[in-house]
Amino acid sequence: MGPIGVLSLQGDFREHLATLEALSFAAVKVRKPSDLEGISGLIIPGGESTVIDKLSKIYNLAEPIKELIAKGMPVFGTCAGLIMLANKLEDATPTQETFGGLDVVVQRNAFGSQANSFETTLVFTGIAEPVSAAFIRAPIVLNLGPNVEALASLPNGEIVAVRSGNILGISFHPEVCDENAVHAYFVEMCKTANFTSTN
Ligand code: GLN
Repeated sequence: MGPIGVLSLQGDFREHLATLEALSFAAVKVRKPSDLEGISGLIIPGGESTVIDKLSKIYNLAEPIKELIAKGMPVFGTCAGLIMLANKLEDATPTQETFGGLDVVVQRNAFGSQANSFETTLVFTGIAEPVSAAFIRAPIVLNLGPNVEALASLPNGEIVAVRSGNILGISFHPEVCDENAVHAYFVEMCKTANFTSTN
């Protein structure tokens, strides 16, 4: 198996690299197309989706990432990363595009401004212990396609974690809470998929 790539153009990619290191799983920064060679999965971090969209085009990463997602490479998006994986957005900027692959509608900035950020714990299907979660200008999932499973919701029913095949998307940041369990779940997804990118 190859390492897991972490898209390292903008956002909190360092925290994801540190979480994979804490799990003793090899990780590489992805900043150019050749960095995708040989990876077994890709994490798209939180940050600002409009900036990740622009930079991934400037660095010629958007098309190869879309192709790898279509080929079934495991991919895990947190917050802005979830936004980048959604097929459809609410409250996108006029020119904003996503990689897509996840048959959901995601609403950006669903909780208001930075001041409305919060931390909580969540019951997460497939993870035994409650998961610590920081919501920072977070999105929510409004609509799920038929092949998408909700894995975690807030007490009011808002969906904040989804999976469809090899695509995992969460609204929140476990990696800033010293929470490794969702990354461990993704590492298991990668091991099961046994995918190696030959991009
Ligand atoms: N609101 C940001 C966006 O639209 C996401 C915030 C985050 O990743 N913490 O991209």
